[in-house]
Amino acid sequence: MQTTLVLLKPDCVAGRKAGEVIRRFEEAGFQIRGCKMFCATEDLLREHYAHIASKPFFPEVEAFMQSTPVIALALAGDHAIEKVRTIIGPTDSKKAEKGTVRGDFGVDVMANIVHASDSLENAELELKRFFQPGELFDYEMRYAASARGS
Ligand code: ADP
Repeated sequence: MQTTLVLLKPDCVAGRKAGEVIRRFEEAGFQIRGCKMFCATEDLLREHYAHIASKPFFPEVEAFMQSTPVIALALAGDHAIEKVRTIIGPTDSKKAEKGTVRGDFGVDVMANIVHASDSLENAELELKRFFQPGELFDYEMRYAASARGS
């Protein structure tokens, strides 16, 4: 079991794709351990995107990421890091296959709907970046819909 960090970006939130994207993750078997909506600050983005902060396109990414609130999810499941990256597709939405989140809903390399951790090491860092310890939950299903006959 692994937990990975997903961000639903402004094009996802403003484009009302959040429900569909979360549905895909849940259908693939991932459990939501944490969820929050917030406005990304400049400091947070500079830390999160440190590896691209010196690129010429970074100011545009920063403006994009601050154009609406974003939603952070902590998703748990078997091989979550690799599997979630497969579900979302490659960075450039135009190169992402149909059936992937970015291939179905993304516009280009910047407006690509979601972020997802790309390694175990980064998942640990990113979960700490976006969630306080008490904001990540472990729980089991005790009240299944089928148990109520519905
Ligand atoms: P990923 O999000 O797939 O891990 P990167 O870490 O390389 O990809 O890039 C972080 C984010 O920066 C991308 O998701 C995308 O929103 C943006 N980005 C990356 N490359 C470019 C580019 N060439 N032009 C504009 N935005 C980019």
